Amino acid sequence: MSAESFLTQQEELEVIEAIREAERATSGEIRVHLESSHPDPAYDRAREVFHELGMDATDLKNGVLIYVAVDDHAFAICGDQGINEVVPPDFWDCTRDIMQDHFRHGNFKQGLIEGIARAGEKLKTFFPWQEGDKDELSNEISRG
Ligand code: CA
Ligand code: CA
Repeated sequence: MSAESFLTQQEELEVIEAIREAERATSGEIRVHLESSHPDPAYDRAREVFHELGMDATDLKNGVLIYVAVDDHAFAICGDQGINEVVPPDFWDCTRDIMQDHFRHGNFKQGLIEGIARAGEKLKTFFPWQEGDKDELSNEISRG
């Protein structure tokens, strides 16, 4: 398993569609980044990738990165400061749990899709979609 074989091309399209769908309800911007392995803890690495991808450039500081280190069997959800300032500390727990459950059973696509959907639902409470919304961050999956 590598970051390349983690999702088939078809599955990748479905994940991108899930992001598009989630972003119809919230101004939050969700991205997925895959890499094979990294020595740093997943959350630390996610923060780093978040900045490398320029995800801190959103107006409301409400970008969210779902980072997966495929070979390390590790992932992390990392939101920008605009989110952290207004949500409770356990905000991402249920999203993480859903993903973990699917990943554990090897259902990577499903884990991502349901995690994205849940993240979108959670975000819309604090960051509802607004007229004139822009797709501030690409919905494409990035790889490291
Ligand atoms: Ca948007
Ligand atoms: Ca987007």
